[in-house]
Amino acid sequence: MTRTDDDSWDITESVGATALSVALARARETECECPLFTDRYAQYFVDAAVERGWRPPSSGPMAERLRIIGGYAAARTKWFDEQFIAAGANGIEQAVILAAGLDARAWRLPWVHGTVVYEIDQPRVLEFKAETLAAHSARPAAGYCAVPVDLRQDWPKALRDAGFDPSAATVWSAEGLLSYLPAAGQDLLFERIVELSAPGSRVAVEAFSPRFFDPEYLERQAEQWRRIRESGAQTPNDLWYVEERTDLEQWLTGRGWKVAAIEALDLMRRYGRSPAADDEQTIPRSVFIEGRRPS
Ligand code: SAM
Repeated sequence: MTRTDDDSWDITESVGATALSVALARARETECECPLFTDRYAQYFVDAAVERGWRPPSSGPMAERLRIIGGYAAARTKWFDEQFIAAGANGIEQAVILAAGLDARAWRLPWVHGTVVYEIDQPRVLEFKAETLAAHSARPAAGYCAVPVDLRQDWPKALRDAGFDPSAATVWSAEGLLSYLPAAGQDLLFERIVELSAPGSRVAVEAFSPRFFDPEYLERQAEQWRRIRESGAQTPNDLWYVEERTDLEQWLTGRGWKVAAIEALDLMRRYGRSPAADDEQTIPRSVFIEGRRPS
């Protein structure tokens, strides 16, 4: 599927369907013997999408890939959960989840009373989410505000119009987003985040690791994608912008933010979810970056 600068999608198509794959991974994690987190909403989303005709891959190379990256998805979810919880414990009561997809944190995390969570994603994705949660009478555990807007458009205006307060410290997250934005779009996104971030704000990001662009790794990935495509499945990398990026760690540091980062395999190890040696090449070469603007 070819991307365009103003493409849009429903939950079962194009980039929208990637949110379903994440929900599927969270539903599986929730059901496993020793989950890193529980997300009972994830299965609601999967079921609602299946009712709309979506079919999760059940066999073949794509199903195998989803199985292998389950540990990655679980570790990633846990890491972002911890970022929000730590921000709340440090007095931050405004959260913005960029490209929220089917992230159910506003419903399932123990938010500090008074916190407001803003979620940005495309309109049809947020509509599906709201309908599904309403069908289960789910209530958010914080103040909640959906901001249906494309992140390539003037989302800061939409966010302010929705009540976002740029003078209050904010915790931002970008999970499973940056690969779907071109490099220039990523730069603009972070310029805007920094502009809207009062002192004391934090940002949590999953980004391409510089190691992602290692030609040998890219070649092995291309081979995996080719096998998946031949099996008739859609491959999410067709939706990615594989372009070298600004080094976010350096960029944030240059703007006075304190930065810490951890590579995906190290994070998985930290949570006891290291992949089997044969599966290591399938794990996305991402880096998880935590930035804090001093108060
Ligand atoms: N962050 C969510 C999570 O981890 O559960 C969803 C991740 S999913 C892989 C990617 C999400 O990014 C989708 O929900 C998609 O709609 C959203 N997205 C990608 N590009 C976007 C854009 N330009 N504007 C708004 N949302 C976007």
